[in-house]
Amino acid sequence: MWWNLRTVEVRKRRVKSVLHEYYDVEDSKGGLTVNPYVGCSHRCVYCYATFEWWRDFHDVVEAKVNAPEVLSEELARWRGSRIEPVFLSTATDPYQPHEGALRITRRIVEVLQSRGVPYYIYTKSATIVRDLELHARYKDRCVVVWSLTTVDEGLKRALEPGASSARGVFAAMRRFASAGVTVGVTVDPIIPGLTDGRENLEAVLAGSRANGASFAYSGVLRLREDVWERLGSLLRSMGKHEAVELIERMYFSEGRRLGPYRIPPRSYSERVSSLVREIAESLGMRYGIPVGEGDLLSPVERWRDAKITWYLEGGEEHRGEAIGAGPPSASSSLADIASRDPSSMLRPTS
Ligand code: SF4
Repeated sequence: MWWNLRTVEVRKRRVKSVLHEYYDVEDSKGGLTVNPYVGCSHRCVYCYATFEWWRDFHDVVEAKVNAPEVLSEELARWRGSRIEPVFLSTATDPYQPHEGALRITRRIVEVLQSRGVPYYIYTKSATIVRDLELHARYKDRCVVVWSLTTVDEGLKRALEPGASSARGVFAAMRRFASAGVTVGVTVDPIIPGLTDGRENLEAVLAGSRANGASFAYSGVLRLREDVWERLGSLLRSMGKHEAVELIERMYFSEGRRLGPYRIPPRSYSERVSSLVREIAESLGMRYGIPVGEGDLLSPVERWRDAKITWYLEGGEEHRGEAIGAGPPSASSSLADIASRDPSSMLRPTS
């Protein structure tokens, strides 16, 4: 197993900074992120963030207990009049079970709201429902994106043992959509031979649509040595030998290298994203991440090409134009992005 089968250990930690830039070398774009936690109890087998931080990333979670206060100070010192939306989170899930007791994400959101900063929540969790009212009162400036790879609950438990069930995610989506919050789904990572079938993708998107999601996005699995070690071993133990053979051929024979990753042939990635787009559009969903102040229901296909207008409130009142930033792919964690550009690596601060 890639985790120790015990309850996650949560270590409280005080940090000096929390508002960071991430930079995606592949896309030459970046954005702002706050990670309330480092380490993740969802324990996804394919997680890219592992080992970039520490080997027991799935068993030890550091909780940045003073993050809200530090963020408040950082925003007060913000030099520009413009600010891009903040992503919660890019390295780990902001709504892990211990958030219920610690409420760090909640307090960070309160700080962002008090300064008029737009934000995206990126989660695999239904725990976020406890903060429904908080987000709903800010619904014109926030977007909630659920990462959902499959509706096969057994497979989901095997791949993401600590994450919420698909049923729980759908129920949470429905609550948020009913409250007027813009919600969407990203199917990421799509795993060749396992979750890339039309039937699975249709089930994820149709379920999301039925529960209020207005947009969808997707990403195909990338393999790093340690990721394949865990995933390959899991698939073999599940008797998924055809998927193992397919992945080995696609990534190691036909695919190519991208930094520390192996990726499949472009033709495969394009075929899968076209399929997700086709399904999404047939269901009346947009393919892409919504951007734009006051226009959050108008997704663009590629967030990174969008011009949007976000600005920081409080103190001086300014308006400005910024290049839109959107979340990296669901499993394209901060560590993943940073690993392609060590200078952008964001380490937990002490
Ligand atoms: S993929 Fe995301 S949700 Fe899953 S363990 Fe890694 S950080 Fe957590």
